[in-house]
This record gives sequence, C-alpha cells and structure tokens, in this order.
Amino acid sequence: PATLGMLGGGQLGRFFVAAAHELGYQVWVLDPDANSPAGKIANRHLQAAYDDYAALDQLAQGCAAVTTEFENVPADTLDYLAKFVPVRPHAAAVAICQNRVAEKSFLRDNGIPHAAFAAIISEDDLRDAAKVGAHLFPGILKVARFGYDGKGQAVVNSREEAIAAFQGFKGETCVLEQKLHLDYEVSVVLARDEQGATRCFPTAENIHRKGILDISIVPARATACTANSAQEVAERIAEKLGYIGTLGVEFFISRGQLYVNEMAPRPHNSGHYTLDACITNQFEQQVRALCGLPLGEPRAHSAAVMVNLLGDIWFEKDADGNERYREPDWAKLYAVPNLKLHLYGKHHARHGRKMGHFTVIDADPARALETARAARASVGIVD
Ligand code: ATP
Ligand code: MG
Ligand code: MG
Repeated sequence: PATLGMLGGGQLGRFFVAAAHELGYQVWVLDPDANSPAGKIANRHLQAAYDDYAALDQLAQGCAAVTTEFENVPADTLDYLAKFVPVRPHAAAVAICQNRVAEKSFLRDNGIPHAAFAAIISEDDLRDAAKVGAHLFPGILKVARFGYDGKGQAVVNSREEAIAAFQGFKGETCVLEQKLHLDYEVSVVLARDEQGATRCFPTAENIHRKGILDISIVPARATACTANSAQEVAERIAEKLGYIGTLGVEFFISRGQLYVNEMAPRPHNSGHYTLDACITNQFEQQVRALCGLPLGEPRAHSAAVMVNLLGDIWFEKDADGNERYREPDWAKLYAVPNLKLHLYGKHHARHGRKMGHFTVIDADPARALETARAARASVGIVD
C-alpha cells in the first residue's frame, strides 16, 4: 500500500492518519515530540525537527506524497521535500497563511474584504500617522508569526498603547488591525484538488471563549446569503492561492458585512463537526486531495454542534484551593445517544490545551445546541 507523509503530529494529524488508514494507506508522521497524538498511531513516527534534513530525506524516500497539519512548518522544509515528492498544499500557499503580513497583503491585493491593517516592522511605523491612521484605533496588535488561540495579541486603544504592546512583543514584526464590532463569526472549510475542483463544507458559526474556539454550530445561524458569500470568498482564496488540500477560512461578520479574519492551510478545528455530520469529513478530503483522488461529497446529513474540550476540566480545586489532576468522568457524555466523543490521546492536560471535542448531531439545529450546551455543562465547562 502507498505511504503518505504528514508533517506535524497533533490532533489534526491524528485524524488524518485515521482517515488515511480507512482508505488503506499507511502514514509516516514527522514530529519532534515523542508523545505526539498522531505519531502514536502512525505506521512510523520520525521523531525529528522540521528542519532535520536527514529525516526529511527519509520521509521523501518512504512516502508517495506529503502534507502538513502544522501551519508553522518552515516553508523551506516544504520546498525541499517538493524536490523529491508531491507536497500539498505547496510551500508558497503555506507561507502566505503563516505570516499575517503576507496573509493580509494577499487579501488586499486580491480585493478580498478584510479589516483595515498596517504592517508594523518598527516603532517608527506606529508613530507615522500616514502609515497608522486614527481609523486603526481601537485596534488589535498581532504578532505576524506563530500566534494561535489568541496568543501574541493585544487590544490597543491608542498609538501609545500600541507602542507599549509592540515593545512587549520584543519588536517582533506585527500587524495592527482595526478592531471590528463583531455580530458573529463563521468559517468555511473546503477542499480543492489538482484540477481546481473545489468542494465547500457547510459554513459553521463559531463562538470563542478567551480567544479559543469553544463551540461551532452548523448550519451557521447566518442568513443563507452570508453563508453562501463566505463560501464564495473561501473558494476565491483557494483559487488565488493555487491551493491543493483542505483549507480553513475564518470570517467576521461586522454590521452585516463579511470580512476574512485569517486562513489555515490545513483542516480546521471548526471543521471537526464534519467527522460525524458529513458524508465525507475534512481529513478524508485532505487524503483525497493529496493522492489525486476525486473529492468526496461534503454535504451534512444533519445539523451539528461541536464543543471543544480544553485541559481546564482535567483540574479540580480541593478545599484549600489547590489544583488536583483528574480525568473528567465521561459517563455523562456517553449517556447522550446523539453525542460523539473524540479524545486526542494527549499525554498531559494543561489549561487551555485542546484535549478533545464532542459533536452532537440532530435533525433539529436548536435541539442540537440545547443538548450540546447541557452536555458541556455536565463535564464542568462553565461560562
Ligand atoms: P486561531 O487559534 O484561530 O489561529 P489566532 O491566535 O490566530 O487564533 P485570531 O483568529 O486572529 O487569533 O483572533 C482570535 C479571535 O479574536 C477572533 O476569532 C476574534 O474573536 C477576535 N478578533 C481577532 N481579530 C479581531 C478584530 N480585528 N476585530 C474584532 N475581533 C477580533
Ligand atoms: Mg490563527
Ligand atoms: Mg483565528
């Protein structure tokens, strides 16, 4: 059987391995962490850094094609592998998605709606009223690279606050973007194949908590027009990137207008509902696109609500206020007949760490949300 290569061993890689195994493929995972969730179930785990060229040579020799689940894998790594083996998505698309300056410039250059922004290379940029106009305040200063789950971001109300925040980020390149009033947020996950055929999953509505995705609701409680426009914009982005694989696009809806927030060059947390609610899931699409197979049918066969399980509920406070580690009692979730629990097999829980998720599927969207909220509360997730 053919062997596929995966860069990154997190939960996204783990679901990819499972999907690839379903279709009869073997998978080699490259990840520096000996306990990576995907590495543990892969046919082979290359425990190495992403720029370990001896390990990359092994991966290229052993695999028919290579993909990634880690958006920060160095573009040089993808370029190097591409000399020997098909790499999807290609390095140039990943490079755009992993740097907020490149990403927002790409949106601007392609006429795709986004929040007003300025690239901040130095403190002088923040003092320059021609570069950083008053319209960018209140704004959000975000480091250009390696930010996730709201890390590396600061809300800034003035030029002075922006300068202080920039210093706090040690002068790393940033973008300053206008802080939008959010009506709500949605995302589109899609797959695009070598021939340019594109299939979108239903648009999801996303609720965040402390900067981390908490709940995804499908269908999104948006107008059909908004949900469709989001899909059209996501397709345009994939086309302009020449993207092959599964792509996640996050959107804001602000005063009825759609804005792209950011792109993820991989399956997306808000697309986890596709595992249980769609005919083909986002990881199978990734396998299909990688292997040059026809894309699957993305249609949802029921409404779905996905809830993230963060490490926080692995800790309980004793009478003295000290934290104790304890695996949550999943019995309450197993008792819900239309609920599917997914745990990622991570070694240690930490606050804010994504440990698993569950999805409630129901023909009735309102009832799905009600059931999911009750289940969420039953395992100790409090607002
Ligand atoms: P992810 O884990 O999705 O990669 P991230 O760290 O890259 O997160 P963003 O997606 O940029 O962070 O922002 C996280 C959240 O912060 C958004 O989903 C949104 O709720 C809020 N946010 C970010 N930018 C803005 C903005 N310009 N205006 C209003 N809210 C924003
Ligand atoms: Mg991000
Ligand atoms: Mg985001």
